[in-house]
Amino acid sequence: MDHFGTSKPVYVQMKIEIDKGSGFCFGVVEAIRRAEERLEQDEKLFCLGDIVHNNSEVERLSKKGLTTISHDQFFTMSHTTVLLRAHGEPPEIYKYAQEHHIELIDATCPVVLKLQKRILKSYESGLKDNTQLVIYGKKGHAEVNGLVGQTNGDARVVEGIEDLAQLDYTRPIVLYSQTTKGLEGLHLLTEELINRSSTVPVKIHDTICRQVANRIPGIKKFAVRFDLVLFVSGKKSSNGKMLFDICSTVNPNTKFISDLNEIEAQWFKNIDSVGICGATSTPKQLLEEVAARLMQMEANHIV
Ligand code: SF4
Repeated sequence: MDHFGTSKPVYVQMKIEIDKGSGFCFGVVEAIRRAEERLEQDEKLFCLGDIVHNNSEVERLSKKGLTTISHDQFFTMSHTTVLLRAHGEPPEIYKYAQEHHIELIDATCPVVLKLQKRILKSYESGLKDNTQLVIYGKKGHAEVNGLVGQTNGDARVVEGIEDLAQLDYTRPIVLYSQTTKGLEGLHLLTEELINRSSTVPVKIHDTICRQVANRIPGIKKFAVRFDLVLFVSGKKSSNGKMLFDICSTVNPNTKFISDLNEIEAQWFKNIDSVGICGATSTPKQLLEEVAARLMQMEANHIV
């Protein structure tokens, strides 16, 4: 018997809130729009790499006819149409496409495109004085590959302070950042780089996209307000990893999930409030589905 005199337990409804600042950034929205626009005319379209680091969105678009291809597959194709996603690609992709009659739908985000152009210009003008071009980013990430491609593969990629030892401190250094890196990491790296290269000029370009960086203060304020935070993102998303780490710092009870099936009922013991947020590659709809699943679990007394 509970204190209402009934034998049924009383369930207090959990407060569930979706972060208003989460959801796709404009670069991803535009790439998806371009894909859907083309799929309205053609039944089939290839996309070089997953259009977005999010399985549910990739699956949704694959039902409409979008097929993800790898770079190896791309280099065997001809006479077809391929969409380039927001991350951008190196020049050899454009060259191959031209030589093999591949129509490209170039959905490279304008922010990334501008960065590629800046890197190309710096690289060309730095050849005279043997400038070392450095990119602060994740090795092997699609955007970083596209940036390194502007330099004929010469740029050095550093992921953090531990990689600074590989640089040549007798040459001038120009550094650019991958658009989805965190500002804090860039500031730490800059400080250390300046300390190590006291005799050569160092130029740091903060090229972090504000679509990501501007979310940090908002997501911090959001995550701290809840007993539990569900951070929803594809596992391959760079900004997803960075924003998840930030949420975890302000709220250690933050769980990373990529889809609904990863939600575990045991997380919600003694939890009164849940915040749901995600990366720039997480569809708002998926956040809504997570909220709906929680409400359903609650209604069924699973949580
Ligand atoms: S995070 Fe910024 S640079 Fe990257 S796709 Fe989105 S808008 Fe473009």
